Order: sequence, then C-alpha cells, then structure tokens
Amino acid sequence: MNSIKRDKIEEFLDGEEMIVFDDCDKAIIGVGSVHGKPTIAVYCYNRLVDLFVEDGDMTYEEAMEWVDFNIVSAYVGETTPLIMHICYCGCDQEQNIYID
Ligand SMILES: [Zn+2]
Repeated sequence: MNSIKRDKIEEFLDGEEMIVFDDCDKAIIGVGSVHGKPTIAVYCYNRLVDLFVEDGDMTYEEAMEWVDFNIVSAYVGETTPLIMHICYCGCDQEQNIYID
C-alpha cells in the first residue's frame, strides 16, 4: 500500500518493524513510543469504526462490536498498536475527509 502517510511513517521507522492493521490506514492518526519501547502505530477508535461502516457494510453498532473484538482486543506482540478512545483528531466533526 502506498500513500503519503505510509511513506512518512516508513521514513520515520527507518527499517524498524511496526505492526499495522490491514486496510485501516485511514484510521492511523500517528505513530508513538514510550521510553525504552518500540515505535507503535496509533489509531483513532472512531475512525476505525467509521471505516467498517463505510467499507464493511455494517451498522454502527456492528462495526463497534467488530472493532472491539478484532482490533481493540488483539495483542499482536510488542508493537501492538495503540487505540485512542478519547481522541481530539477531529473525528467527532469531520466526515469522510480522512487522509489516506
Ligand atoms: Zn479521532
């Protein structure tokens, strides 16, 4: 997958490995780290749910359930992404303008 966002992340990682969820790049709001730990992807919960409503043919409630079970509950190792639940990325105001 190629995008401006992905290119910038790859450049920042400089070869470091980081887990990302397939087809969820629109919900990545950044990358971050805690001292002494590897860099992780940061996802906006609201954007994840919106993605599955838009692309997954699900109701909002179904998408929330899917994201809670398959993404929020997933532990995929040391670089398991962080999911932001209280988020000031603009997800509460902006619709369908997420950067790919
Ligand atoms: Zn957000």
